[in-house]
Amino acid sequence: MSDTFFTILYFIFVFAASIIRGVYSKKFKQSREYTDKLDKFLTIMPVFGMLIFPLIYALTSWLDFADYQLPIWAGWIGAAIFALSLWVLWRSHADLGRQWSVKVEIQEEHKLVTDGIFKHIRHPMYAAHILWGIAQPLLLWNWIVGLSMLVTIFPLFFYRVPKEEGMMVDEFGDEYWHYKDRTGRVFPKLGND
Ligand code: SAH
Repeated sequence: MSDTFFTILYFIFVFAASIIRGVYSKKFKQSREYTDKLDKFLTIMPVFGMLIFPLIYALTSWLDFADYQLPIWAGWIGAAIFALSLWVLWRSHADLGRQWSVKVEIQEEHKLVTDGIFKHIRHPMYAAHILWGIAQPLLLWNWIVGLSMLVTIFPLFFYRVPKEEGMMVDEFGDEYWHYKDRTGRVFPKLGND
């Protein structure tokens, strides 16, 4: 019973995340080209992790063999982590504004954003997806589906972050180096005000 409740809650969160994404991608329309084939592949993989596998879990009994049970409080912790992820996703879109892109690119009149949530971490949008990945096994009680977001988001993260930071250094030079010094990748750097 409670697993059904948390599964429904999961899909409500997914819906909320797609609204946040939808609003901002409409506002800052992007062309749909990708930098390279691997990048495109790694960008599509999380769609399986966040949506296709959870739908198979919710609508079929194919993955029942990998189900587990958790106490209700664990589900609520998952809900709280997912809510935090949505907040981080919203703030990162709001603060990145028109510099946002599904791909790694410098746009016309691209400005370096160092304020808002970007004052503390350099990759809040990726951080939001990692938080989502941590929430998922607490909401969807199945080994395969619970871990499917983290498994599909990490390759993208490890491929993208060095590429993106290299591009930012090329474009903004010292300004980005100094920014890098003051901030953490996905966790705020301790010892900074
Ligand atoms: N990695 C960031 C942004 C993801 S969107 C995050 O996780 O929040 C990807 C685009 O954001 C890239 O094309 C890059 O040009 C842009 N970008 C990343 N960090 C930026 C910054 N501090 N200021 C301006 N643009 C940035």
